[in-house]
Amino acid sequence: MALLYKSDPVRGARWKELFAQHAPDIEFRQWPDMGDPDEIRYLLAWMPPENIMACLPSLEVLFATSAGVDQFEFDALPPELPVVRMLDPAIERGMIEYATFATLWLHRRMGDYARQQREGQWQAHMLVPTEKRRIGILGLGQLGCAIATHLAGYGFDVSGWARSPRELANVHCHSGEEALDGFLASSDIVICVLPLTDATRGILNADLFARMPKGAALINIGRGEHLVEHDLTQALDDGQLSAAVLDVLSEEPPADDHLFWQDERILLTPHVAAMTQPDSAFPVLLDNLRRHQRGEPMVGRVDLQRGY
Ligand code: NAP
Repeated sequence: MALLYKSDPVRGARWKELFAQHAPDIEFRQWPDMGDPDEIRYLLAWMPPENIMACLPSLEVLFATSAGVDQFEFDALPPELPVVRMLDPAIERGMIEYATFATLWLHRRMGDYARQQREGQWQAHMLVPTEKRRIGILGLGQLGCAIATHLAGYGFDVSGWARSPRELANVHCHSGEEALDGFLASSDIVICVLPLTDATRGILNADLFARMPKGAALINIGRGEHLVEHDLTQALDDGQLSAAVLDVLSEEPPADDHLFWQDERILLTPHVAAMTQPDSAFPVLLDNLRRHQRGEPMVGRVDLQRGY
């Protein structure tokens, strides 16, 4: 029985060692050296091969190497093929770290101080206490909840928004379209950690920005296609928004002449908020492989209808 790995080859070498050491009954193969395709029961991939079932006729489970699965073309997957996303604790830690950094960057006006330093300007701005800074998190799933709880620990006034209702200690939880207005109106910093689906593509647009308090800020650590980039530039020009921290863009890397490269109001990072680490992800994956072998439900199973 074999697992085919199709993702970053550097981390592939570590995955291979981990399988050899802890699960020698599952043969680890690395794309494109797949050997006999009939022997491959599991695929661990960032992006599956085209014509997946023709290519891998004995495939039983598709495991994503990532927490988000929007890169998969669901229509091209057989509906009965289980798709499981990666719930690596290192992804959660990375997202908490990045969201905290970006929130503090905006909260403590580090963008202004970086600019002032370049301009040789020594000027203090009033500090806002954390309890007076309202943080709104779009998406209260695995990652949104972890970020919300962590930021509440700093004393920030934290709210979150999701499709379905939930309760979380020290976090005001909102759900559904009808609650979005109130949530946005009371968010000085909005953090997007939604999955990319047909319902959320382009959600960070002029209409949403207009419902936030004037001078609010945006952090996008979801996916680039959540953001209508032109609308962000417009909102910054109008003063509706004051700053943004973006880890993801609709085109990565962006073109050389992309406006965001030169925009001092935007802090841009190359999709590095979190990365799957084989050492912490392996036990999660192995637990799911064993669950599947025992006929038990796997953790992180994607609902193909919802798209996340
Ligand atoms: P998750 O556990 O599936 O949670 C998704 C959350 O979004 C849930 O709370 C869900 O609501 C909510 N949601 C989905 N569609 C919605 C809609 N139409 N309206 C309102 N709320 C909606 O996902 P996760 O593990 O937290 O990951 C979220 C995303 O983070 C991933 O999909 C990925 O795109 C992104 N990510 C980015 C990086 C990076 O490096 N930048 C790394 C990892 C992940 P319900 O609770 O009601 O279902």
